[in-house]
Amino acid sequence: MVSDGHCFEEARQRMVDQQLVPRGINDERVLQVMREVPRQRFVPPDTQNAAYHDNPLPIGCNQTISQPYIVAYMTEMLQLKPEDRVLEIGTGSGYQAAVLSRLARQVYTIERIEELARRAEQALQDLGYENIQFRIGDGSCGWPEAGPYDAIIVTAAAPEIPPPLIDQLALGASLVAPVGSAGYQDLVRLIKRGGRTHSEHLTPVAFVPLVGEHGWQDRD
Ligand code: SAM
Repeated sequence: MVSDGHCFEEARQRMVDQQLVPRGINDERVLQVMREVPRQRFVPPDTQNAAYHDNPLPIGCNQTISQPYIVAYMTEMLQLKPEDRVLEIGTGSGYQAAVLSRLARQVYTIERIEELARRAEQALQDLGYENIQFRIGDGSCGWPEAGPYDAIIVTAAAPEIPPPLIDQLALGASLVAPVGSAGYQDLVRLIKRGGRTHSEHLTPVAFVPLVGEHGWQDRD
């Protein structure tokens, strides 16, 4: 892994101590990874100084990198094990993929905007993350050839959980996704048990839309 500057290192430790721990993130593995992944390497150069602030940031193409707390919370809710294979919908900056890759065996990540996907892949390659596979396309249909997955995380909001993603979950696996209107959503966790799924509402959130066949229509 490439090391980063002293100031970023300090800001990252403060972010964990002041934003994550007091809000209840208590999985030691998640906290450790959040203490180590250099978030400033995933944001545009002119916003690097804000990389550890308690809010989302623009990453170009009208998209955002989520607030650090939301990244940690969604990750914790997946309850990842080191042998797990994880699917992420919405690569964006690649930061969430970096966090997942440190906690699971293999990460599959899909982004619909080519420019973002290429940038994220380059950043992750430069930092030495090797267990991540990339795809450019509509993640609302999932990545069926590589499934089923032990966990699925959707980092863009849809009116409902895309049915193909539920199909691609392994038995006992968890899916975490923002579900609701284009403005505000509920973060939902769904667990597949036998032929049934159990879902719970976790917390209100505001994500950019999931644009695709099983999300919102593309207005471009
Ligand atoms: N996980 C990202 C990170 O760590 O930076 C943040 C993701 S950003 C909040 C949501 C991303 O989902 C955007 O980059 C957007 O282009 C992407 N997206 C929206 N609809 C999509 C779809 N159908 N398939 C794949 N990616 C999609």
